[in-house]
Amino acid sequence: MSRFWSDVVRRLSPYVPGEQPRNADLVKLNTNENPYPPSPRALALVSADIGPSLRLYPDPNSVGLKDAVARGTGLERSNVFVGNGSDEVLALSFLAFFSGGNALQFPDVSYSFYPVWCQLFGIEAERIALAEDFRVDLTPYRGGKGGIIFPNPNAPTGIALALSDIEALLRDEPDRLVVVDEAYVDFGAESTAALVPRFENLLVVQTLSKSRSLAGLRVGWALGQPDLISALDRVKNSFNSYPIDRVAEQVAVAALDDESHFRECRERIIATRTQTTSRLQTLGFEVLPSSANFIFVHHPRAQASELFEGLRERDILVRYFEQPRIDGHLRITIGTDEEMMRLVSVLAELVRAA
Ligand SMILES: *Cc1c(COP(=O)(O)O)cnc(C)c1O
Repeated sequence: MSRFWSDVVRRLSPYVPGEQPRNADLVKLNTNENPYPPSPRALALVSADIGPSLRLYPDPNSVGLKDAVARGTGLERSNVFVGNGSDEVLALSFLAFFSGGNALQFPDVSYSFYPVWCQLFGIEAERIALAEDFRVDLTPYRGGKGGIIFPNPNAPTGIALALSDIEALLRDEPDRLVVVDEAYVDFGAESTAALVPRFENLLVVQTLSKSRSLAGLRVGWALGQPDLISALDRVKNSFNSYPIDRVAEQVAVAALDDESHFRECRERIIATRTQTTSRLQTLGFEVLPSSANFIFVHHPRAQASELFEGLRERDILVRYFEQPRIDGHLRITIGTDEEMMRLVSVLAELVRAA
């Protein structure tokens, strides 16, 4: 700790991202990356077109990218805000909409960055317990005062809410901003994007990191009515006016416009998820119904922490959360079929020995 640290910095307990080890032989199933390459059309741009233009600042409004997002979602450019990963978009949203206000409600088991941003921006966090079966129950959110945020599907459970349930919440709580974090929506949930024109109180946050295989590019966006987008622009332009660099913008547009590559990779991941789920169930695992590119699993006879260590010793990395309610579970990213076969065979051994 340095004497130059502000009080805010002293009090922070920062988010801890999943490990990003340098060992290339690892079966890496711990941070929900996509096992397939980005669109070849997107990759071709990097060396060819973009290089010489890098001496110039990028478009601070990322109009080309906003238009690609608008095309893909059926919305207008004025409904789109883009940022350096959806983490940045979420952080700016916390500052723009929730700081200085009432407590922000979110599920007690959810994306662990939410409480970190609350702390950073001095927002009171109100954690709402998941139902017994790990679903998000929206009933206890009703009648509150401040904003609401949840991922759909939720992380790390992978369970999705029905669009009709979210719509009912938006209708019943018109004076509260509801942020739906759709990082995993493409893997099996219904997006709320189409509700944006009808609900002033809805902000939808999406990313290229998971379903478009571009976690390394850092591009995400928010969808909302123009008033909400203007608030985000005000905050962005008070912090970093060029969050999307030239490479990121062009690669992102090419990836967004390559629907067929996107669909093919998504279908493969969904098929691998179905197959891995049934193989793990055969080994006695309980697998929560996942609409994401990961599964959340529990074995009644084997300790999750020991399975985690056992996998690690065999160069397979998954995610274990030492946290009440979920310390009996592992979160496993869906990799390729070969990676998942290796995972299942090691888990079979570990469970037999438990
Ligand atoms: C991965 C993830 C994000 C962040 O995605 P980036 O766009 O890579 O910053 C946001 N929310 C949830 C729930 C996630 O799992």
